[in-house]
Amino acid sequence: MSCPPCPRCQSEFVYQDQRLFICPECAHEWNPEEAAAEEAVNVADAHGTPLAEGDKVTLIKDLKVKGSSLVLKIGTKAVIKRLKEGKDHQLDCKVDGAGDMMVTAQFVKKA
Ligand SMILES: [Zn+2]
Repeated sequence: MSCPPCPRCQSEFVYQDQRLFICPECAHEWNPEEAAAEEAVNVADAHGTPLAEGDKVTLIKDLKVKGSSLVLKIGTKAVIKRLKEGKDHQLDCKVDGAGDMMVTAQFVKKA
């Protein structure tokens, strides 16, 4: 198994020590499994700003809630509880006045 280049200095002389990769040039050590987990979910808002769990967002358009007559108004605030990979409904949010629901990332902007 070959080692990836160092994410800090791009050195190609990285070696593996048990579960860690170690860069001999800048002394950076990292766990490839943790790095993969951090990069697994990559969700951005309407303006391309990366979103993270705990971020506050606001809706940039009115959203109808599936299966109900409820409409979330533009400007409604929400807090992201969890991010999920996918084309839509990536954000598990707590929405002001509406409770927990899944919201599509491109319909919000980071507050
Ligand atoms: Zn390095």
